Amino acid sequence: MKPVKPLQTLKNITILGATGSIGASTLDVLARHPYQFRVFALTANRNIERLFEQCQQFQPDYAVVVDEASAEQLAGLLRDIGSPTEVLAGRQALEEVSAHASVDYVMAAIVGAAGLLPTLAAARAGKRVLLANKEALVMSGQLFMDAVHQHGAELLPIDSEHNAIFQCMPAAKADGQSGETVQRGLAGVERILLTASGGPFREWPLADLSEVTPEQAVAHPNWEMGRKISVDSATLMNKGLEVIEACWLFGVSTAKIEVVVHPQSTIHSMVSYNDGSVLAQMGNPDMRTPIAYGLGWPERLTSGVKPLDLFAVARLDFERPDLERFPCLRLAYEAHALGGYATIALNAANEVAVQAFLNRSIAFMDIPCLIADVMQSAQTGTPNQLEEIIIQDEDSRQAASFWLNKKKMH
Ligand code: NAD
Ligand code: MG
Repeated sequence: MKPVKPLQTLKNITILGATGSIGASTLDVLARHPYQFRVFALTANRNIERLFEQCQQFQPDYAVVVDEASAEQLAGLLRDIGSPTEVLAGRQALEEVSAHASVDYVMAAIVGAAGLLPTLAAARAGKRVLLANKEALVMSGQLFMDAVHQHGAELLPIDSEHNAIFQCMPAAKADGQSGETVQRGLAGVERILLTASGGPFREWPLADLSEVTPEQAVAHPNWEMGRKISVDSATLMNKGLEVIEACWLFGVSTAKIEVVVHPQSTIHSMVSYNDGSVLAQMGNPDMRTPIAYGLGWPERLTSGVKPLDLFAVARLDFERPDLERFPCLRLAYEAHALGGYATIALNAANEVAVQAFLNRSIAFMDIPCLIADVMQSAQTGTPNQLEEIIIQDEDSRQAASFWLNKKKMH
């Protein structure tokens, strides 16, 4: 039988960070549903080759790259093949393709603080925001959630744990209101059980952690991801950022969230209810599942992910996280308790520290030391203006650079 084109309008989607791990998985899912989605814009930092291939395949209206020289290079390549895609350059253009009137959905998959402004632009334009870029929410918390509510955006978590929690949360009340977000009410919810694989060093002798190499740190046992989030998973900073992310997304305090180390990464997180029920979302560790869920919600879409073979999984283990081994998780709790300025400092310092570790300028166990010191220099309280957020981010990056320079001199 020939595929039948259903009677529905195509959703236009912008993918911020198209050339990354999440971006590529998103395009993989979209390619399976050509009658439901159309790619409006693809963006990248510098990976022109990959972006060029993606433009050839998906024919977006726009391709955006951050710097002028890369934009010219890409435009030349596209011109040579007679592509209709228009190339734009610069940070402002990232915001434009997020907020554009023709766009329905925005996949926020830029890594780090660089994703904040275009992701916020999508929320302010009332789009369906598929949020992978957790750093944006860690930095802007209340301000971001306020923008979602004020502008009737639909916020769907793509981070696998938060997507799992969303799936296990109480069903939305059918009150006919538009602009529903993740905060569907917590009727009967006692605790959120946020699972963590524990990363590659969960069982290493503590003394060996100072010798960890970048290659070892990015080799995650269960997931294939970008380099920054892979290091974050190895330090458990990723779990720290995710605790903060969950607080904002679901409107809860850290007291309602328990981190559970679950090395098989089969349960992606759980919600525990006051009647003793614990609901879990399970599946193979493949980001196409949460991506398809976000794209299709409230319906389900095929994703290309293989069915879970429970006999191959065979067992599910659970442990408490070790905060001595993983001080980054403790620092994230401390930062969230201190307030918004501290979480911005935590995130900025972590980004600088991870980069320095990947460049072999510092050791693995220097990462938490740098972050702890930079957090000390952050302002107290919580910013309520975007400008204040950006200034704290810049100040903390500068403090982190000073820290690195000082270390180099000793
Ligand atoms: P990645 O490094 O593979 O890709 C990052 C993307 O962002 C690339 O397209 C890159 O070109 C773009 N980018 C990087 N710096 C930029 C800048 N300064 N300006 C504009 N664009 C820039 O990262 P990833 O693993 O795909 O992760 C993306 C985001 O999703 C991160 O916030 C990560 O925490 C989150 N996330 C990823 C996974 C995963 O499985 N990879 C899972 C959950 C959450
Ligand atoms: Mg995650």
